[in-house]
Amino acid sequence: MTSERVYLDWNATTPLRTEARAAMVAALELTGNPSSIHAEGRAARGLVEQARTAVAGAVGAAPRDVVFTSGGTEAITLALTPGLRIGSKPAERLLVSAVEHAAVLSGGRFAPAQVEVVEVTREGVLNFDHLRQLLASGPPALLSLMLANNETGALQPVAEAAEIVHAAGGLVHVDAIQAFGKVPFQIKGLGADLLSLSAHKIGGPKGVGALVFGSDVQGAEPVLRGGGQELGRRAGTENVAGIAGFGAAVAATMPTIIADMKRVESLRNRLEANLRQTAGSVIFCESVARLPNTTLFAVPGLRAETAVIGFDLAGVAVSSGSACSSGKVQPSHVLQAMGCGPELAQSAIRISLGWSSSESDIDACLNAWKRLAGNLTKRDHETVPERF
Ligand code: PLP
Repeated sequence: MTSERVYLDWNATTPLRTEARAAMVAALELTGNPSSIHAEGRAARGLVEQARTAVAGAVGAAPRDVVFTSGGTEAITLALTPGLRIGSKPAERLLVSAVEHAAVLSGGRFAPAQVEVVEVTREGVLNFDHLRQLLASGPPALLSLMLANNETGALQPVAEAAEIVHAAGGLVHVDAIQAFGKVPFQIKGLGADLLSLSAHKIGGPKGVGALVFGSDVQGAEPVLRGGGQELGRRAGTENVAGIAGFGAAVAATMPTIIADMKRVESLRNRLEANLRQTAGSVIFCESVARLPNTTLFAVPGLRAETAVIGFDLAGVAVSSGSACSSGKVQPSHVLQAMGCGPELAQSAIRISLGWSSSESDIDACLNAWKRLAGNLTKRDHETVPERF
């Protein structure tokens, strides 16, 4: 990336932290297989276990409860397994909130008929009445709920939901992938039985993640079978360099998370104060607890894909709230679940910041925005926005 570029798409992925890069380069120099008992093998094992301790410590878990995976999606797939249980009652169905990431909405290893969707409010927060209703309507369930939404940044009341699910004899998986490194949490405080993490959202490498066990869950059948790695929960020789990079990114992130995110939040708030000046602008989920780094906003009449290209041409990387698959831009399922109409949803632009975002990044972003918004017609400005 050249120095003129301004990267404001941190929820998509983050730059590699220097500490992670150094740890990965050092790991790549090692020859040994972590399963070998000779000195070379033990050196590789040492790096994997050091990273496991860092990841476990960051979320208040025991190292043996961390299973390294090929990323967040694999961690989620490992978690979403029919028949998971504590004690004797297996979870026979999966409840997911309507705003989950596609990896969760796909249902993991549950059959489509076993998956039920829990509604959210207009602010994107879990509808507790609907959750209670669904729990009462059938056998024990596994609830998969994200701690923070990747599009809106809205935080879910995970601990309250977990209490309700546990009282009904169910289990809880928390997709903490987007929240990790942005808001402090501990697995026990969330009441999570399972928790998914991904390295590339916190300055680690892409393609590495972890599933963390918060309770004595049984029945987590491996996705990958073969050797006995990861205590039999995930076969295959470990991605030693990736895991070492993950551990180093965690160790670099955690000590300064509060101070870093306080600074990021004040940048985000300055950005939003300026965006609000554009007539008709809507900032999503602003009345609920949100990640400190995320803004999802829309101005009716300016389609997100046009805006994202405009920002890009001005040297600023942001993203649209719409999912683009096979060349067709679909309105975001998250905004649709919140009751947002397709026109407003197709205008949603996500700007997400990170630990090295600066005042000058925000200036560049706002300058680009002023030019884009200046091109809006009077009619667009007069459009009465839906309120969110
Ligand atoms: N869950 C959430 C909330 C995410 O934001 C992402 C990544 O965008 C994932 C899951 C998937 O993680 P990964 O990219 O590591 O597979």
